[in-house]
Amino acid sequence: MCRHASWLGAPRTLASLIHEPAHGLLRQSYRPRLQRHGTMNADGFGMGWYDAARAEPVRYRRTIPAWTDANLAGLARTARSGCLLAAVRSASAGMPIEETATAPFTDGPWLFSHNGHVAREAVRELADDAESSCDSAWLAAAVFARRRAGDDLGEALAEVVTRAGLKDPRARLNLLACDGTSIAATAWGDTLFLHLGGHPREGVLVASEPLDDRPGWQAVPDHALVLASPDGVSVRPL
Ligand code: GLN
Repeated sequence: MCRHASWLGAPRTLASLIHEPAHGLLRQSYRPRLQRHGTMNADGFGMGWYDAARAEPVRYRRTIPAWTDANLAGLARTARSGCLLAAVRSASAGMPIEETATAPFTDGPWLFSHNGHVAREAVRELADDAESSCDSAWLAAAVFARRRAGDDLGEALAEVVTRAGLKDPRARLNLLACDGTSIAATAWGDTLFLHLGGHPREGVLVASEPLDDRPGWQAVPDHALVLASPDGVSVRPL
């Protein structure tokens, strides 16, 4: 399982997901605390954020371990946005290690990440093509196909997870996506946590596992969909 994290709220830097918390994604790349599949996340990393000068998010992804990228800290400390997504990767057996297999995947304003594993056959009918043979790239393509068909974030994730989960009952489908103003995430076979920020309405963190030991982290039940927007946060069963 890879690890991912997202923020929606008052503008923050990507270092708030990666470097600053005691158990942020940098630490999770070599010492995750709740990872059940795989022991570390050294097969690449990526991050995405929104800038008023562009219609689409800015995306940066590499195939090297996060701790070996000497430019990452400076970039993450200056990339600032009210909507952020970052991920570190532990490639599943047989999956390619290449940038096109590394989250975040992006299409239009959407950013997407996947923790887990799914039989590619379970996803193939949901997408025409994908940028990599990696299962996560196929899930991204399936979610983006739903976007182009008019689904919102939550509809797209729920549809892809329930359809792929039906075809592959052993699949682990923790998906995370954002579009600049909202976040959607699924818990399906792996851990997912929420933190509603230090102050009311400051924002929400959605992450595979807590980024620190502050009180307030809430575990999301399995087979659930999380939606976060400026209107609030909801969790519903899938
Ligand atoms: N199966 C995906 C990959 O190979 C995700 C792996 C994971 O969650 N560890 O990238």
